[in-house]
Amino acid sequence: MFDVTRYATAAQSIVDAGRFLYDRGWSPATSSNYSARLDHDHVAITVSGRHKGQLTAGDVMVVDLNGQAVQSDCKSSAETLLHTVLYQIFPNVGAVLHTHSVKATVLSRLASPGSALDFEGYELQKAFSGVETHEGILSIPVFDNTQDIPALAEQTREWFQARPDQPGYLIRGHGLYTWGKTMADCLRHVEAFEFLFECELETMRVRP
Ligand SMILES: [Zn+2]
Repeated sequence: MFDVTRYATAAQSIVDAGRFLYDRGWSPATSSNYSARLDHDHVAITVSGRHKGQLTAGDVMVVDLNGQAVQSDCKSSAETLLHTVLYQIFPNVGAVLHTHSVKATVLSRLASPGSALDFEGYELQKAFSGVETHEGILSIPVFDNTQDIPALAEQTREWFQARPDQPGYLIRGHGLYTWGKTMADCLRHVEAFEFLFECELETMRVRP
């Protein structure tokens, strides 16, 4: 069982996040999925296929950390396991956001297979929780896209167990995953990533 009041708060944070992310153009055409932790064993997550700019509490359901629906006949996102694996690895993660922006999609397609994108020297790196200087390197892996979500979930588990300080990843030609202690932290991470992606693409444009 989960706490109903916590569910209501989490569902509202997801609805609000959807409005913001859709308005920015980062969750078009019913793509993307969002989640927020309720307790040690449960997360609230968007129901599959809903318009992210028009979410209501009825578009948010509860799953356990194995991705199984709890007290719901709805179907959660096909990518539910990519969320739950992060809650399993990081007990202090409170929210996970997955977006499908143009810049994340384009940049991920330019990265070479099996590589990571390194962001270095940007003041905005400090927007990520725990980062206090522009002098570090944010190393964002780019995983190949697949419809085999359990396999991809295991790949991400392996990567982030070894590098727990990195705040997100890209899936090639698909989008971004990032997380945070709170929904506010997580939204700030999405915005920071979008800024960094735009800087990288703009740099390629002016200095090909
Ligand atoms: Zn997706």
